[in-house]
Amino acid sequence: MEIACLDLEGVLIPEIWIGFAEQTGIDALRATTRDIPDYDVLMKQRLRLLQEHQLGLPDIQKVIATMAPMEGAKDFIDWLKERFQVVILSDTFYEFSHPLMRQLDFPTLFCHRLIADDSGTIVDYKLRQQDPKRQCVKAFHSLNFRVIAAGDSYNDTTMLAEADAGILFKAPANVIAEFPQFPSVQTYTELRQEFCRASNRDLSL
Ligand SMILES: [Mg+2]
Repeated sequence: MEIACLDLEGVLIPEIWIGFAEQTGIDALRATTRDIPDYDVLMKQRLRLLQEHQLGLPDIQKVIATMAPMEGAKDFIDWLKERFQVVILSDTFYEFSHPLMRQLDFPTLFCHRLIADDSGTIVDYKLRQQDPKRQCVKAFHSLNFRVIAAGDSYNDTTMLAEADAGILFKAPANVIAEFPQFPSVQTYTELRQEFCRASNRDLSL
C-alpha cells in the first residue's frame, strides 16, 4: 500500500504569510524563519502585529480567501488522489489555510492550530507536535504504508528522508544543492512523472 504526502505552501498554494502581508500592506508580516530563526519569537511577533492592526480571525480569513492555489495545483492533486491516498503535511494553521483548502476541495491536512478568543483575536498558537512531518511518515510506516513525499523547503527534508521516496518540488537553489539525494523538479508534469517513477505500481500519467 502506498500513501502520498505533500507539503502545502510552496507546493500547492503560495506562502500564506507573505501573501497576507502583500494583501494587507503590513510589510513586517513578511518575516519568515530566515529572518527570525526562533519560531516562537517569530509567531509572537506575527500575533502582536495582527493585534496592532486589529485583525481578528474573520478579517484574516477574508483576506486569505482572495488568494488562490498555484496554477495547476487543483488538477495535480485531483490526479494524485485518483492514484494514491493523499495526506498534506504542513506547518501552517487550520484557521489560516481553510479558505485555500476549500479551493482544493479540502484534502486531508495535518497541521497546527491557532487559538482565538471570543472576539476573534488570535491569542496563541498550538503546534501539534515537534518534527511533525517526519513523525507522520514514521506513523504511516507503522501502518504498513509505503510513503512517497514531496516538498519545497528545509522543513520538508526530514519528511523526505524518512519517506521511501522523497521529491523536491520548486525548491530554492540552496536546498537543491544541500540535498542532492532527492530528485528535484519544477513543474506539475514533472512531479507526476516522479510519483510514477517512485511508485512500485504501474501508474498511467
Ligand atoms: Mg513549503
